Amino acid sequence: QPPSGPLPIRRLQEALINRIAAGEIIHRPASALKELIENCLDAGSTSIRITLKDGGMKLLQIQDNGCGIRKNDLPILAERFTTSKLSTFSDLSHLTTYGFRGEALASMSHVAHLTVVTKTKTDNCAWKACYMDGKLTPAKAGLTPDPKPCAGNDGTTITIEDLFYNTPTRLSALRSSSEEYARILDVVTKYAVHNPTVSFVCKKAGSPSPDLSTPSSSETPQVIRLLYGHSIGKELLHTTISSPKKSRRHEDNDEDDGGERDDPESWIAEAHFTNANYQAKKLVFLLFINHRLVESSRIKKALEAVYNGVLPKGASPFIYLSLLIDPRSVDVNVHPTKREVHFLNEDDIIERISDSLQETLASQNQSRVFEYQT
Ligand code: ADP
Ligand code: MG
Repeated sequence: QPPSGPLPIRRLQEALINRIAAGEIIHRPASALKELIENCLDAGSTSIRITLKDGGMKLLQIQDNGCGIRKNDLPILAERFTTSKLSTFSDLSHLTTYGFRGEALASMSHVAHLTVVTKTKTDNCAWKACYMDGKLTPAKAGLTPDPKPCAGNDGTTITIEDLFYNTPTRLSALRSSSEEYARILDVVTKYAVHNPTVSFVCKKAGSPSPDLSTPSSSETPQVIRLLYGHSIGKELLHTTISSPKKSRRHEDNDEDDGGERDDPESWIAEAHFTNANYQAKKLVFLLFINHRLVESSRIKKALEAVYNGVLPKGASPFIYLSLLIDPRSVDVNVHPTKREVHFLNEDDIIERISDSLQETLASQNQSRVFEYQT
């Protein structure tokens, strides 16, 4: 029944607005974990240990050995738009760290119970703080909300409990714990491949052995073999690709290639990918742009096309691609949840990367033919 006249417009309550906004950023345990892992890496951690209950829905805990958070910053830590990574507008274009919006922890405090235990190298003890709706909250009834001293190692432990306890629609959109756990393992696996010098451990609470464990100070092919298996590990090829060198505009320019280093169109990519001997049913594609796990259906399609000429129909490769572009060339204003990215000179970059993979695959095939002949 349509209303006979216009209904009154009402202002939504602030808590509801924040909850809706948080749900836009945090979709499921795996997306919360991705933000938390990036924070650990930004903090310079070399060890990241993740513990989960119910696929991260009941409990998601992540412990790092990074720089820690200063006690004085704890009161505003979970407010929206508080960050240590961005202070001026021009910083936006030179950003080298993962997060830049100061929204992740704030969002989590609106849709879950958030607890932080942190210690910097110069602190004598660790500090524990609990958050609700962006603000410090008492750990228990009868206590004050301010951070409490406690025992703890250097670094930060973040605990997220009862994700979406107050957002039933988000909660009902989640799958089974085992499916959420599989998504989490996938995210951790990919970040572990991309950060071979960082040790990652992921386990279910109470389980004696981890489901994923990598050593610190390893190398990419070793981590790929460890996490994706020997059948991929033994067929890996490797190539690095970079933007074409610009010819100098003025021959009398004697500035020692300073212009080149500051070229916002320069980029570099590194790829590890399987040769024609490896034929899987499903494509495994890991794409990092400026160290952020992202998706690009255009890059994916282009690389799949390269393999169309190499693999039989229905067979797929493993591809890990890390692309570093000048932050000025990526649109950082896209919403953090939009994982599909776009950047300057996309077509040229994709073409050069595809060509390089193609050449490496072809030369490897040739050398194999050659080996058979001799
Ligand atoms: P952003 O990463 O965009 O700054 P977040 O909400 O993810 O926003 O984090 C807010 C701030 O909290 C960060 O800028 C950082 O100073 C601090 N922080 C969060 N996680 C950690 C961590 N694991 N170690 C050290 N500092 C952290
Ligand atoms: Mg962050």
